[in-house]
Amino acid sequence: MDFDFELIIELQRLDAELHNAALVLEGIPRLAQDVDNRRQAATRLVAEAKDKMARNQKKRRDLETEVKDLKAQIGKYKRQLNEVKTNKEYTALLREIEEAQIKVDGLEEAIIAEMLAADDVEEEIKSALHKQGQEDEALGKEKAVLEEKMRETEARHAALAKERAALLPRIPREQIKLYDAIFQKKGGTALSPVTGDFCAMCHMRVRPQMLNEIRDRAAVILCENCGRILYLTAKPEPVKLRPEAGE
Ligand SMILES: [Zn+2]
Repeated sequence: MDFDFELIIELQRLDAELHNAALVLEGIPRLAQDVDNRRQAATRLVAEAKDKMARNQKKRRDLETEVKDLKAQIGKYKRQLNEVKTNKEYTALLREIEEAQIKVDGLEEAIIAEMLAADDVEEEIKSALHKQGQEDEALGKEKAVLEEKMRETEARHAALAKERAALLPRIPREQIKLYDAIFQKKGGTALSPVTGDFCAMCHMRVRPQMLNEIRDRAAVILCENCGRILYLTAKPEPVKLRPEAGE
């Protein structure tokens, strides 16, 4: 088989780059989701602090209503003091008034505690809003960077795919078949350059006779260990595939 190594090496390069671009594209939505999650967490902190404030205010209103009711009750008892006939009734009323007053005192303390707590919650809301503002700006930028990277990579992927499509008709069908079979089996790398006397992919030593055959390019030589197509790079060292497009 007259094997055109230049073209098949180019095919491998394009496939490797397509694979890398696909990996980048695959990863971006997860990164974008992560940015959104962090944004939502900041928003949630604000909502939670505001909820806390709402609960605080509701509790204060409830306590104030209770105080108001008790004070009305105390007023009623005091008016009744003038109407009672016996000392016993009088003493009982005084005890009712005293008990109600103790409750009022306790409730008023609770109201003050809620008011103090409200100051803390107010601070919590402020700091949550501040944090949200900061995060929003930073995360907005992160998101824009990701979107830009997505666009770039998509364009790059499309260009590579076009290049690959243009390359394919230039390679004999049976060579592509062999390449594809090894490509599928070997996780996306069908070729391996020989560096020194070794297969660069699996580091198995290549026998001298095989080295000669590879040098002659008379036949396709597969690595005895990993089964990839072996080739010698044009320049013996360092092992480097062609420069990236656009470099
Ligand atoms: Zn190998």
